Amino acid sequence: MRTIRHFWPDLNDWLERVPDSRFQPFVTYDKRFLVWWGLSLFLFQLRARRQLDFDLDCRDSEVLKNLNRLANTKQDTRPVHKTLHHFLGHSGVEPYAILRRQMLQRLIRSKALDAARLQGCFVIALDATGHLVFREKHCEHCLVQKHETHTVYMHQLLEAKLLGPANMALSMGTEFIENQDDNAALAAEARKQDCELKALSRLMPRLRGDYPQLRLCLSGDGLYACGRTLQLAKDYKCNYVLVFKEGHLPAVWREFQTLLKLCPENRLEHRPSDGVHQEYRWVHELSYEDGEGRTWSFTAIQCQETVHEETTTYAWITDLHVSKNTVVEVATKGGRHRWHIENQGFNRQKNSGLNLEHAYCTHPELFKAYYYLMQIAHLILQVFEAGSLLKHLAAECGRTPWQLFGSLKNIAQRLLESFRYRILGDSVFVPDPTERIQIRFDSS
Ligand SMILES: [Zn+2]
Repeated sequence: MRTIRHFWPDLNDWLERVPDSRFQPFVTYDKRFLVWWGLSLFLFQLRARRQLDFDLDCRDSEVLKNLNRLANTKQDTRPVHKTLHHFLGHSGVEPYAILRRQMLQRLIRSKALDAARLQGCFVIALDATGHLVFREKHCEHCLVQKHETHTVYMHQLLEAKLLGPANMALSMGTEFIENQDDNAALAAEARKQDCELKALSRLMPRLRGDYPQLRLCLSGDGLYACGRTLQLAKDYKCNYVLVFKEGHLPAVWREFQTLLKLCPENRLEHRPSDGVHQEYRWVHELSYEDGEGRTWSFTAIQCQETVHEETTTYAWITDLHVSKNTVVEVATKGGRHRWHIENQGFNRQKNSGLNLEHAYCTHPELFKAYYYLMQIAHLILQVFEAGSLLKHLAAECGRTPWQLFGSLKNIAQRLLESFRYRILGDSVFVPDPTERIQIRFDSS
């Protein structure tokens, strides 16, 4: 729990600064208490909202004392899960978007994430995922997918995740992919559905507004290698490393293959580990005219990786500096580390107690507040799991965290047990305001 020190008491401070008008006055519960109550749902990976009433029951446990300590409150009862629901219904999404930004800015300012920078930029992985799926029409904003025998109604979202050291993927921007109000009057068949590229056009101005000075490098799969993304990168002053697929840009790919033969000097062999051989080749100033007649010029990189005599070809387009000294880093940090968003991002959130695809709530706006709470809790969990404090704790027992806990699921379970049965000690908080808290992340 000492990881909390990294954000506490600032998290309470930030919450205090969210205007009260954001919250309907709650006579019984302080807003700080209710936000910690909501975060607990995900910090302890309880899987479903009603589990709050059982796993965090206060009888015969230290839950109430611990929650009061975290929230700096003096509540004498705990809420029930419906109270959280009611509370989020009044607060909406915005306060949690602000909290997430404050927490991430804290990590950025303290330079805790700097080891992951690529040519000075933070790599921002863009990816969309399914969130909720319904068999019946759920709301006016549902995306509609017709199958032969049935129709499904979905909510998806586009995430911008900052790729940090130690395989962290920290939620930085979220745009819900949903049909907009302006075409709600049209029949479902006539509506042009929202999609991740349209969502990107809405996400970028907000992301830039939240982080006006930060150097960003957008990283996305082949779908993003198009005029829209390149224009957005230009408009919002971002660099980019995007997957280059033959099928997606066939004419540019042909040109690329021809030019590769003409620049044999742009070549580097690399052996990242035993049995793995990589050959990098690249072409500068490859030109591409998009569907709207805009012309773009970028560097294209090809990596042929051979593992046990099986060769796979990867390629990217980028406006970063590419040379023999930088090509491996650009391809690795900007291109291949994208899978962190899959592993540490969506897969983790779907296949753990965070339970991303579970409908914590089906209200067309309210489910978004749950989503933000999940992202904030996951940020805290990643800092906890990847940080040096857990390593030190395990080292005191002469083991690694993995040897001590065995799995992330076990860590979540132990965290819940200690929250239930142990009173958070003073060491969880900062007794001396001059004491500096430092959490390091393994950048190897
Ligand atoms: Zn819906």
